[in-house]
Amino acid sequence: MSPTPFLHPYARPAAHGADFLTIVRGEGSMVWDSEGRGYVDALASLWYCAVGHGRAELNEAATAQMSRIAAYHSFEIFTNEPAEQFAALVAARSPMPDSRVFLTSSGSEAVDTAIKLGRLVASLGGHPERHVVVSRVHAYHGVTYGGLSSSGLAPNQEHFGPYLANEKVAAHDIAEAEAVFERRGDEIAVVLCEPVQGAGGVRPPAPGYLARLRELCDEHGALLVLDEVITGFGRLGGWFSTERYGVVPDLVTFAKGSTSGYLPLGGVVVGERVRAALEADPSFVLRHGFTYSGHPTCCAVGVANIGVLEDEDLFARVPHLERRFAEGLGSLLADGRVAEVRGEGAIWAVGLGDHVDATGVRNEMLTRGVIARPIGSSTIGLCPPLVITDVELDRCFEALEGALVAAGA
Ligand code: PLP
Repeated sequence: MSPTPFLHPYARPAAHGADFLTIVRGEGSMVWDSEGRGYVDALASLWYCAVGHGRAELNEAATAQMSRIAAYHSFEIFTNEPAEQFAALVAARSPMPDSRVFLTSSGSEAVDTAIKLGRLVASLGGHPERHVVVSRVHAYHGVTYGGLSSSGLAPNQEHFGPYLANEKVAAHDIAEAEAVFERRGDEIAVVLCEPVQGAGGVRPPAPGYLARLRELCDEHGALLVLDEVITGFGRLGGWFSTERYGVVPDLVTFAKGSTSGYLPLGGVVVGERVRAALEADPSFVLRHGFTYSGHPTCCAVGVANIGVLEDEDLFARVPHLERRFAEGLGSLLADGRVAEVRGEGAIWAVGLGDHVDATGVRNEMLTRGVIARPIGSSTIGLCPPLVITDVELDRCFEALEGALVAAGA
């Protein structure tokens, strides 16, 4: 058997069709494969399906917009109502006052946009030498060159270099960030930081870390970019991480939860400082944009998704999920089945013992009807739809425990 024409992302190109699991249907926190087997979707697909699968409201919003006009670009003089409406809703929920919103289709595009805006602001201010990006070990900021240059995951960078100027600092050691600013403070355009690192293993910030990054940026004239592609739109119980950690950035990147993944939509929330630089000269043109920036159907679904999140008060479920995860995973830790439990809000992970392989545990969980995500060789990530029920959560914990036992943990 040979591979199918679909060259899969983050997969072995040599894998055969039979190596893949074909997902055909979803409802709430459940998905079903082509053989009719049901699974609890314990990672909300790829960290994005906050409102759960099969939402008629989102389907209807897409259908209604497509029946008027599915797509029209927003370059130069053109705009559309769903993009204006979605941007206004996000700006009103932004941690920065008077913000505006640039729209993209993905998190990678959002991150590259934020880096470019940071360099642009420096250059417009007469400091093109201020071009360095500071990011963190274990960081995941997507796969395009800006974000990949800022990655803290070496295997993803292998073979693809050379990269943009970047300084990497340890995720929890603020002294390393201080040292980089000491050395290169005048050259730093942006500090790029996931409030809770997601794809790098689910790592919440050390107490005071984000606040000190904010101070360092202020002391040295750099911009703070919080990459909230996973943490935004409810994962931590609020629209953005500022509601949990109190740190106000200059730019925020988002994607994933913005439509719960129903259609691709990301963006950058632009705070006052960047906004002022962009608007200072009325003749200045922002020469940056994607064909699908402000895509009407994606934005209509984004508006409907915000409606569902608010009408059903889904963020209010996050403290409950947080308690359930802390208890459920905590008991695996107490029993010595896992080496570490990390997480906050509705995003969690377990670190496995040395002799236990994460992909093996994931595969065992699949046979027990739960889809979790192996991260590297020693972490299992859990980040379910916010609508997950207690019964479904129990199923996740039972499947994880069963898989760990089977894997010899
Ligand atoms: N930034 C963060 C924090 C992410 O978690 C991701 C994806 O997981 C990205 C950026 C890249 O997003 P995308 O895969 O939509 O390009």
